Amino acid sequence: MSLETILHSALDAITKAENLQALDEVRVTYFGKKGQISGLMAELGKLDPDARKARGAEINKVRTAVMSALEAKKNALEEAELNRQLMTETVDVTQAGRNSDVGTLHPITRTMMRIHEFFASVGFDIVEGPEIESDFYNFEALNIPEHHPARAMFDTFYFDEHMLLRTHTSNTQIHVMQEEKPPIQMIGYGRVYRSDSDVTHSPMFHQVEGLVVNKNVTFANLKGILTEFMQQFFEKDLKLRFRPSFFPFTEPSAEVDIECVICSGDGCRVCKNTGWLEVLGCGMVHPNVLKSVNIDPEEFQGYAFGMGVERLAMLRYSVNDLRLFYENDMNFLTQFR
Ligand SMILES: [Zn+2]
Repeated sequence: MSLETILHSALDAITKAENLQALDEVRVTYFGKKGQISGLMAELGKLDPDARKARGAEINKVRTAVMSALEAKKNALEEAELNRQLMTETVDVTQAGRNSDVGTLHPITRTMMRIHEFFASVGFDIVEGPEIESDFYNFEALNIPEHHPARAMFDTFYFDEHMLLRTHTSNTQIHVMQEEKPPIQMIGYGRVYRSDSDVTHSPMFHQVEGLVVNKNVTFANLKGILTEFMQQFFEKDLKLRFRPSFFPFTEPSAEVDIECVICSGDGCRVCKNTGWLEVLGCGMVHPNVLKSVNIDPEEFQGYAFGMGVERLAMLRYSVNDLRLFYENDMNFLTQFR
C-alpha cells in the first residue's frame, strides 16, 4: 500500500468516526502494535542508511498528519459530548439541600484541651502514658510498696499479680523521669480506672497530672502555677486554699480548694455552703520517688499535682451528674458547640 493511500484512508476513517470509542479504534488501526503506520516504521530497519533516511522522512510526514487529525477530532468529539451534557442534564436549583450534622467535641475533650493549652503556653510538655501498667509504675516507684495501706485508697482493677489498669496518671511521671534528665516540666493526661461507680464516681475517668523537677523548685512555684491556672481556666479572679493532706508520693502534700465558682464564696448547694470547692491534690515530690528513678533528691526537687478532668468540666459547664458525660445523649452533647 502506498503512503498516499494509507494517509487518505486514515483521514477518511477519522472523519467518519462518530464517537471517542470509534476514534480510538482508528488510532489502534494505524498506531497500535500491529498498526499500519507502526508496521512501516518497523520495516525501516531493513533499508540501507540513505534510503532509510528518505523513507523515514516520508513516513514521518504521514504519521504527523494522521496524529494531528486524530487529536483535532478527539477535541471536537469531547466538546460535542460536553455540549450534549449541558443541554440534556439540568440541575434543579430549587430543591432543598441535605442537612448533615456537624459533630462537636466532647466536653471532656474540650476541658482537657483547655488545660493543655494553658500548660503548653508556660512550657510544659504534654505526654500520654500507658493505660495498662505494671505494679512498679503505678505503685512501687510512687512510694507505695506492696502491703502499704495507701493501696487501699485506690480501688484497682488487676489483670494479674503484676499488671493492672492505671489508677492515676502518675505512672506517666515515672516513665518520663526514667527517660529524661531534669529539668523536667510535663503534663501527663488520659483515662484512669477504679472500681467505683455512683453520681460522682465513674469506673473510668480522666486525669491531668503535672510534674516539675529541677534545682531550686519550691512550694511557692507550685502555688503560683496552680493559682494562675485556676484563674485562667475559670476566667475568674478566684482565691485558692491549700489544706495539708497525705499522698504517698508527695511530702508535704496539700489538697487545693478554689473559691466556689457558683456562689463566689457566699455558700450554695454545690459547695455545701462552705464557699469552697475541692479541685486537686498536689505536693513536693517525695525523695523516695526521685530515688526510684535515680534522680538525686539532694540535688533536685520537684512538685507534682493531679486533677480530675470530669470535676473541672462539671464545674465549668455546671453539669450536676457525672454520668451525663458517658451516656452519649445527643441533646446533652450538642449543647457544647
Ligand atoms: Zn457555692
